Amino acid sequence: MPSAIDPCALPELIHPDDALPMLLGQVDAISEVTTLDLTDALDFVLACDIQSSLNLPPFDNSAMDGYAFRLDDLDHSQSSTSLTLVGTSLAGHPFAGKLTDGCCIRIMTGAPVPNGLDTVQMQELTQANDKIITITHPNKLGANVRGLGEEVSIGQTVLSKGTRIRAAELGVLATLGVAKVNVIRKLKVAFFSTGDELKPVGTELQQGQIYDSNRYSIKGLLSKAHVDWIDLGIIEDCPLAIERAFSNAAEQADLVLTSGGVSVGDADYVKQVLDKVGEITFWRLAMKPGKPFAMGKLENAIFCGLPGNPVASMVTFYQLVMPLIEKMQGQRQTQRLKVQAKLTNDIRRKPGRVEYQRGVLTHDNQGRLSVTTTGAQGSGMLTSMSSANCFIHIPLKQGKITAGESVTVEPFNQILS
Ligand code: AMP
Ligand code: MG
Repeated sequence: MPSAIDPCALPELIHPDDALPMLLGQVDAISEVTTLDLTDALDFVLACDIQSSLNLPPFDNSAMDGYAFRLDDLDHSQSSTSLTLVGTSLAGHPFAGKLTDGCCIRIMTGAPVPNGLDTVQMQELTQANDKIITITHPNKLGANVRGLGEEVSIGQTVLSKGTRIRAAELGVLATLGVAKVNVIRKLKVAFFSTGDELKPVGTELQQGQIYDSNRYSIKGLLSKAHVDWIDLGIIEDCPLAIERAFSNAAEQADLVLTSGGVSVGDADYVKQVLDKVGEITFWRLAMKPGKPFAMGKLENAIFCGLPGNPVASMVTFYQLVMPLIEKMQGQRQTQRLKVQAKLTNDIRRKPGRVEYQRGVLTHDNQGRLSVTTTGAQGSGMLTSMSSANCFIHIPLKQGKITAGESVTVEPFNQILS
């Protein structure tokens, strides 16, 4: 299959801001829907809107432990009024007696407020003398009453298609009485590392070998992204082996990810094989770390070739692959939080690429943010990621930055932390 763009005819690096929409434009959300018990639905994405079949709250109820009465029964020329106690309403045990003029009932949090009563005073602002309850006047009608339907009314759309189900959504769905939910099925992602120098952990290293770390960091990211992960191990730097691994991966997965072999080295075969058996959409980004990054298609699967350098592979995953996965999973794109913080150390650099330096973001006791880089920023130094809690975004044309200047910081979200 011919490539969409001949990589050799691409002298320019692609700005990551342009790469992301190009990348997202290549993929659709998977359309297969599965029905799950609510208990199994955490981290899945809703396949349809959820309309409420209930009012929330479903009945007027008390927000306090205290006494319920009719506001009109109070003597407003006084600061307090004595009312006659005629019964009790407990959560799950509504008051079933008869109301009389000038009466009140004892009521607990969550207990139904009977028809005919409209206001609750908290216990601390009342005095009880047997059946006579003296109430310090509340300042408004309906005080301490959670009204029927005040949060949600029947038929209202409460959660929309594309929402990822987190703990709060699980709770909202349970509040609505939803026992089963339609969600997008899990995305299948196949991953392999490439490199003759790579050895799996648990084996002895020979001269010139290193342990394969990318399979672990990417696996960590993929588990947080809630996908089904297919680990295809380490593949040697050999075009035939890579071709076989591609075909194996594309048969099983919606998305194929690899690490290494996408640069211009003599043993970098990933891009070459992709060009032969698939399609390259783009390659090489104006990103630091992360210049060698290939995107394309392999049969029916989407392909992303991450750089081999461990920091570069994590950064490109986070900045590009993660939004891609979210789109494929049918999740609505959410804005990532970026803040301004005062840099505490100088950053020396040459303009030309958007840089994602690793930093530690802190705040003082007035909430003012400052950020310090995690020291040496080599794209192979994975400890710079592990000691960081944010990326410092440095624009393409920016040169040296001096301590005290304000910089744009992207705190790690739950995927990275
Ligand atoms: P490559 O992109 O294949 O040219 O690799 C760039 C650098 O990343 C080289 O120093 C590789 O040894 C290293 N590297 C590649 N893949 C991995 C991996 N899976 N784990 C750790 N380091 C890697
Ligand atoms: Mg390599």
